[in-house]
Amino acid sequence: MLVNTKEILTKAQQEQYAVAAFNVYNLETAQAAIQVSEREGTPVIIALGERYFPTVDVEGFSAMIKAMAEKVKVPVALHLDHAYEKESIIRAIRAGFTSVMYDGSKYNLEENIHFTKEIVEIAHMAGVSVEAEIGSVARGAFSDEEEGDGTLTDPQSAKAFVAETNVDFLAAAIGTVHGMYKGEPKIDLALLEKIRAAVGIPLVLHGGSGTPGDVLEKAIKLGICKVNVNTEVSIAAVSYLEKYADNNQMAHLSTIMAEMQQAMEPVMTKFVRLLSKK
Ligand SMILES: [Zn+2]
Repeated sequence: MLVNTKEILTKAQQEQYAVAAFNVYNLETAQAAIQVSEREGTPVIIALGERYFPTVDVEGFSAMIKAMAEKVKVPVALHLDHAYEKESIIRAIRAGFTSVMYDGSKYNLEENIHFTKEIVEIAHMAGVSVEAEIGSVARGAFSDEEEGDGTLTDPQSAKAFVAETNVDFLAAAIGTVHGMYKGEPKIDLALLEKIRAAVGIPLVLHGGSGTPGDVLEKAIKLGICKVNVNTEVSIAAVSYLEKYADNNQMAHLSTIMAEMQQAMEPVMTKFVRLLSKK
């Protein structure tokens, strides 16, 4: 069933586990995420980034996810990931997304508060929850996200930001990166603890890919309720395609797409099990 993202994350926060938000790009990634979650009995967040709006039929995509969600017992939420434009947010709300992320992290705190607050007012009128970000997640390897400067979240700014914007979830920058790490991950769990103490709403970790399992487990104990996973799933699919191409066969596209989905599912299962462990 399709549910509001806030409902999923409030329960996760109360029971101290996290929900995977899988970035999806096509039918197979969405099927993989929903089927894995149904098998594991865990809620799931299907995330589509604003960056895919030029190539994805957003309304058709939303209708498809809603239809898929109706068929499963686990709660499914539909989330707009990293939106920079108000128009995209309004489009997603109209299309039936259950939450939106407004990314004003490139602005200074005051401007970010100003823009985020406006988005929260619009989204809340439609019953849609809002994620926002302060600090900025840097970009590692194999990511297609925009480059962030890697500024970590300041706990006191986070406190003011949440109080003034009335945002529902906060993406905290604590040293994870979008994509794979280029060296040893340096994740500041002490900072996360301070952010947790300053802010009461569910916290979101961007850059789940490549983050060590024990770090994720500790982060969940310190208040992370949603973990975004993108690049590791993409790598599993692309590695399958590379292997296929090396074999120099001419299979039917339907076979290739089905096998590509099978290649992504173990990565998603790994994350779902790790995050839902209580
Ligand atoms: Zn992100």
